[in-house]
Amino acid sequence: MSATPENNLVILDDVLDDVTPLAKRSLIGMSRPQLGEELISIGVAEKQARMRAAQIWHWVYIRGASDFDQMLNLGKDLRATLNERFTIALPEVVTEQVSNDGTRKWLLRFPADGKVGAVEVETVYIPETERGTLCVSSQVGCSLTCTFCHTGTQKMVRNLTASEVLAQVLLARHRLKDFVGMEDDFDIVAPREGRKVSNIVMMGMGEPLFNYENVKQALLIALDEDGLNFSRRRVTVSTSGVVPAIYKLGEETRTMLAISLHATNDTLRDELVPINRKYPLDQLLDACRAYPGLSSARRITFEYVMLAGVNDSIADAHKMVELLSDIPAKINLIPFNPWPGSSYECSEWKQIEKFAAYLASKGLTAPIRTPRGRDILAACGQLKSESKKPSK
Ligand code: SAH
Ligand code: SF4
Repeated sequence: MSATPENNLVILDDVLDDVTPLAKRSLIGMSRPQLGEELISIGVAEKQARMRAAQIWHWVYIRGASDFDQMLNLGKDLRATLNERFTIALPEVVTEQVSNDGTRKWLLRFPADGKVGAVEVETVYIPETERGTLCVSSQVGCSLTCTFCHTGTQKMVRNLTASEVLAQVLLARHRLKDFVGMEDDFDIVAPREGRKVSNIVMMGMGEPLFNYENVKQALLIALDEDGLNFSRRRVTVSTSGVVPAIYKLGEETRTMLAISLHATNDTLRDELVPINRKYPLDQLLDACRAYPGLSSARRITFEYVMLAGVNDSIADAHKMVELLSDIPAKINLIPFNPWPGSSYECSEWKQIEKFAAYLASKGLTAPIRTPRGRDILAACGQLKSESKKPSK
């Protein structure tokens, strides 16, 4: 393992191979039945397994416990066995950067767990007056290569496990002191009001719908009313357009959906968002129309990066109005965030405003997303880590 002095990042090339099959497994991210089975496997009586699983669930997801020794109602022997076999430790924070606008970016290191190697990913927290949004990663790197995206230049290393996806939420709530604490009251439900992390967006590194099962499992746990208790309307999955998985996401999680649109015709979208060659615009928009539960209060967000001279003309705005005419939609105009080596320029501010005004004049909600955390490379499309695939 080596650390580069200029950025203090730990390079994992040589530890990625170091997968210890005997490493303690994390209980974070297991469903309740899975948790029950694991408890039975370490000798908890079947009759008791459900109750014990519920107790552990409460400690981890409502209290924010990260150590079995905090779970005083489990009994000393059970705590000792749990300590031997499992872990609920949070990932290590390798670096924490705070932007001058209050945005926080954590580089997190996940140790090897069972069959998967150690990796690093970035997670971003964006505080606003009315809400606090956590931008969560789903993969290390990305297998897609959208031409304007920094993450797309990092070769895909691996999918994150459900445990690693969910642990980003737990870690952020820990760091921000966002849990109710360890008081001895077991009837409480995690309050939805007054949270520092009120919203989750799967908009960090990776394509969440290429890691569908793990992302689904993590989000269902985040939505659990006797646990983290996030509101469905405050959990959004963003996709570049993995059409078959959009149908599944709608049926199985009913979270909010965001689509990385970025172009209004197939020729340009094929170039900017190459997955369009597999699932072109008509198929993508059909999947959007079929997304369950849409209404004017539950709209699909279409993300649109503003690239100077590429996709920012009024003719593009006009085409967008046509394309989205029969979908409850809101547009998020994202000024392009540059990164080292990027080959685009952000549209002129005046042009972005003209574009937004045209959409608004046609009745489409189209706020311009203020870039957050640009100074620490925490803004949309700027995330990346140094993890690499182990060499054969
Ligand atoms: N892979 C998913 C989730 C990532 S979300 C997806 O593509 O939807 C990150 C959002 O930021 C996406 O809409 C992405 O297209 C956008 N983005 C990527 N690079 C960007 C950049 N350099 N500037 C602004 N937005 C960017
Ligand atoms: Fe991957 Fe999304 Fe970046 Fe495209 S925009 S390369 S899908 S992370």
